[in-house]
Amino acid sequence: MTERFDVVIIGSGLGGGTVAHTLSTTAASILIIERGDFIPQEAENWSPHAVWGELRYRTTERWLDGRGKEFLPYTHYCVGGNSKFWGSVLYRLRREDFGELQHLGGISPAWPVTYETLAPYYDRAERLYSVHGEDGLDPTEPPREPFPYPPIEHQGRIAVVVERLRELGLHPSHLPLGLLRPGEPDGCILCDTCNSYPCKLRAKSDADVCGVSPAIEHDAVTLWTNSYAERLLTNGAGNKVIAAEVVRDGESVRVEASLFVVSCGAVNSAALLLRSASSAHKDGLANSSGLVGRNYMAHLATMLGGFMPPRHDTVFQKTVAINDYYLRGPDADYPLGQIQSQGRSNAVIAKAGGPPAARRVPAWAYNAWFARGVEWLAMSEDLPSPDNRVTLTSDGRIQLQWEALNAEAHRELVAVTRRLLRKAGFWYVLPISLGVVNTTHQCGTAVFGTDPTTSVLDTWCRSHDVDNLFVVDASFFPSSAAVNPGLTIVAQALRAADHIKDTHLRGR
Ligand SMILES: Cc1cc2nc3c(=O)[nH]c(=O)nc-3n(C[C@H](O)[C@H](O)[C@H](O)COP(=O)(O)OP(=O)(O)OC[C@H]3O[C@@H](n4cnc5c(N)ncnc54)[C@H](O)[C@@H]3O)c2cc1C
Ligand code: SF4
Repeated sequence: MTERFDVVIIGSGLGGGTVAHTLSTTAASILIIERGDFIPQEAENWSPHAVWGELRYRTTERWLDGRGKEFLPYTHYCVGGNSKFWGSVLYRLRREDFGELQHLGGISPAWPVTYETLAPYYDRAERLYSVHGEDGLDPTEPPREPFPYPPIEHQGRIAVVVERLRELGLHPSHLPLGLLRPGEPDGCILCDTCNSYPCKLRAKSDADVCGVSPAIEHDAVTLWTNSYAERLLTNGAGNKVIAAEVVRDGESVRVEASLFVVSCGAVNSAALLLRSASSAHKDGLANSSGLVGRNYMAHLATMLGGFMPPRHDTVFQKTVAINDYYLRGPDADYPLGQIQSQGRSNAVIAKAGGPPAARRVPAWAYNAWFARGVEWLAMSEDLPSPDNRVTLTSDGRIQLQWEALNAEAHRELVAVTRRLLRKAGFWYVLPISLGVVNTTHQCGTAVFGTDPTTSVLDTWCRSHDVDNLFVVDASFFPSSAAVNPGLTIVAQALRAADHIKDTHLRGR
C-alpha cells in the first residue's frame, strides 16, 4: 500500500509535535507517524506502583551498552514522547552556552547560532508551553522579556530552605515550569506525582497537549499511532527522500512526501538514519560527515536525598534552582553545573529505581526518611566525544557507547551541593547514583553547523546532504549545556518550522 502527503513528520515528541503544530496552519497535508499510542487518562497515571513498580508506560525494548550488555533505556514511546513524563522544567540555555566554554573535562564547543538568534523563539516556546517563572533572580539568566506566567511559589519546607540559601549569600531562583492553569478549577493541582508520571488531568505542558493534539484538530493533519518508521528511501542521486517505509499495526506501508521531518529522539533518529543506508548513502542516510550517531551526550546527574527533621507536608517541592556554580565553582574557575529541587520521592521509587541493595531496606524506613526529606538533583554538562555514539548491531539493535568526560567536575558539584545543603540545615545529604546509562537528556547525534564536513545538519536543522530532510529533536545540539534541554528543542523546532514555511512550503 502507498500513501502520499506533503509533509511526513516521524515522531510526535517535542520536536515533531512543535513542527506539526506550526505547520498545521498551512494548507499542506501533514502525516505524523508515531510508534506508540496515546497515554490513557487513568488512575495508574499517578500510581507509583504502576509507574515505577510495573514500569507501565516505559518501553520494554532493550538497548546494548558499549560492552554489549543489555539495559532498559529510560524512554517512552507514546504520543508526546518523553515530555509526557517530564518534570516540565523549561530552561533557556545560558548565553555562555552558545560560545566555546572550557570545562575541567575538556571543551564545550560553540553553537553555530547565538543566544540572540534563538531568543525570539524561546519567547514563543515559553508562551506555547505556558512557562511560569520570575526573571531577575538567577545570576546566569540571559537577557529576556518577562516570563509569560508568574512563578510557582515555594511551599513550606522549600520556602524555609530558600531563605537559608539566601542568608548564605546564594541566589536561589524559581525553576521555570510548564504547567497549565495552576490553581484554577480545570488546571494543575500542584500534586506530588509530576516528574516521571503522566498528568492525569492533562494539565502538564507536554508535546501531546501543547503540540500534537491541537495540530490534529486541523483536517489537513493526520496522526498514525502504533506506526514504526523503519527506513527512509531516497531517489537514485541520493539528494531527496522520496518515501518512508512504515510498519502500521503490523502492515507495511510506503508513505511518499515532498518533505520529511525526523524527530524520533536523539538515539532513535540516529538509528533511523543509520538503518536507511543505501548505495547512495553507504554509511547511513545524511552521513557524509560520518557524524550520525556520534557525540552522544546526556547530562551527568546525581540525585541527592536531604534529611531535615521534623516531618513536613510540602506537596510540590520542585520549585527551586541554584545556579551560582553554573559557570564557576566556589573554588574553581570552571563550570560545575546546576542544582535543582526534585519532586517528592517514596519507598516504591527508592526500591525500584535504586541499586539492588536498596530493595532490602524496609518501606517504613524509606517513608520515615522521605517524610522529613527533600530530594535534589545536581546536573553537570556532558562533553561531546566522537567515541560516544549510537550504532546498530548486525541484527539492527541499538548499541550505545558512552563514557563520561566531565566526571571530575560533576563529583565536585556533588560535593559542593552536599556541603551547601548541610549549611542550609539538612542533617544528612545522601548522593544516590543510579548506576545506569542516562538516556533522559539524550542529544548530539546529528550535530548542526555550517560546515558539511563537521556537521550533519545546517543551522535550520536541514540535512547538508539531502535537500528535503530535517531532524528536529535534540540530535542537533553541539553541546549539552547543564540545563534541561526541552525548551531549546521547542525553540529550534519553531525556528526550523518557520524556515520550512518560508522555503519548502512557500505560498501554501
Ligand atoms: C522522566 C523524565 C523527566 C524529564 N524532565 C525534563 C524536564 O523537566 N525538562 C526538560 O527539558 N527535559 C526533561 N526530560 C527530557 C525531555 O523529556 C526530552 O529531552 C524530550 O522529551 C525529547 O524530545 P524529543 O522530541 O527530542 O524526543 P522524544 O520525546 O523521545 O520523542 C520521540 C518520539 O518519536 C517516537 N519514535 C521513535 N522512533 C520512532 C520510529 N522509528 N517511528 C515512529 N516513531 C518513533 C517515539 O515514540 C517518541 O514519541 C525528561 C525526560 C524524562 C524521561
Ligand atoms: S496536576 Fe500539575 S503537578 Fe500534578 S502531574 Fe499534572 S501538571 Fe504535574
